[in-house]
This record gives sequence, structure tokens and C-alpha cells, in this order.
Amino acid sequence: MTARTHDAIAFASLVTAATLYPPASLNLYTLFAAIIGNNIGALIPDIDQASNRLWDLVPGGDRIDKVLSRLFYKHRTLTHSLLGLFLIFKSLEWLLPRLLNEAFVNVDLVFWSIIIGYASHLVADAFTKEGLPLLFPLKIKIGLPPIKAFRLTTDSWVERLVVLPGVAIYLFWFINQNKATLLALLHQIR
Ligand SMILES: [Zn+2]
Repeated sequence: MTARTHDAIAFASLVTAATLYPPASLNLYTLFAAIIGNNIGALIPDIDQASNRLWDLVPGGDRIDKVLSRLFYKHRTLTHSLLGLFLIFKSLEWLLPRLLNEAFVNVDLVFWSIIIGYASHLVADAFTKEGLPLLFPLKIKIGLPPIKAFRLTTDSWVERLVVLPGVAIYLFWFINQNKATLLALLHQIR
């Protein structure tokens, strides 16, 4: 799937999670950090891909990208597995409290927003023809549905004209269904 589709699915997942499990409090810094973190989380799994947009944000990203390509040697392995998710989970658990100022930002909410972005990426990729190496280093690939012919081709017209608008329609429908909860959440922003 393209980065754009992953971003959209991650955001829809974040809004869904925030509605089902509304945080007790929310401030403006946390809201923005959560949205940006969610977006970055959705892009991390494809970090092993040459065209990853995250590298455009970093000076000298092209060079880092070349090194990483050699390191990962093959697209969709470690970063698309439960092991990868576990490593990201543990790294963020260590990194975020050192990176963010707890006095301004709710580190826990930002942490879960990134994890939601990452996990939504893995789930979405299970619907593509390539499948998901969830149990890497085992060679088994998970696909939904199990029959490959019914799965998506990345950047195909189905992805652009059905999946992406589908996510937008879902989001509008969900927001409309949960207006009261979401407005209450937005009202408590300070
Ligand atoms: Zn991917």
C-alpha cells in the first residue's frame, strides 16, 4: 500500500481508538504530538523501502536510506512482523519519556498513537498481494483473505479509487455516529 493510504488508515484507527477509549484529559500539545506520532508510526514499517517519505524529512536521508536498504536486504521482513512491533514498542517505551517533556505532553497518549499507526500499517498490508510476514523470521506470510487473487495490488486503481475513498467515508460516518463523544473530547482541550 502507498504511504498516503497508510496515513489515512492510521488516522481513522486513531480517531476510532480515541472514541472507544476516550482519554481522561487532553491538551493541545498532546493532540498534535499524537496526530504527528500516529502518522510517523504508520510510515515506520516501510522504512526498509527506498522511497520512504520519512527519509525526505531527515538531512542526508538518501545516504541513511542506502545503508538501511543493505541492512534490511529485502522489503517487508522484520519491520512487518510481531518481532518488529515488539522492538518498536520497547524502543519507544525507552525513548519517548526521554524525548518529550511530561509537563506539556501526555507521553502515554503519544506512545499509543504511534503504536496504533504502526499496528494499523501491518493490518492493512495483510490485505495486499504480497501478504504479511507476521511471524518473521519464519517464512510464513499472512494474507487476508487467504486467497491471493482477492487481495490488493499496491497503488492499483482499487487502492486509489475504492480503499482510500472508503477510509474517508468510514471516517465521516464514524465521526457522525460518535459526535457527542468526540465533541466532549475536543471540548476538554486546554
Ligand atoms: Zn508496508
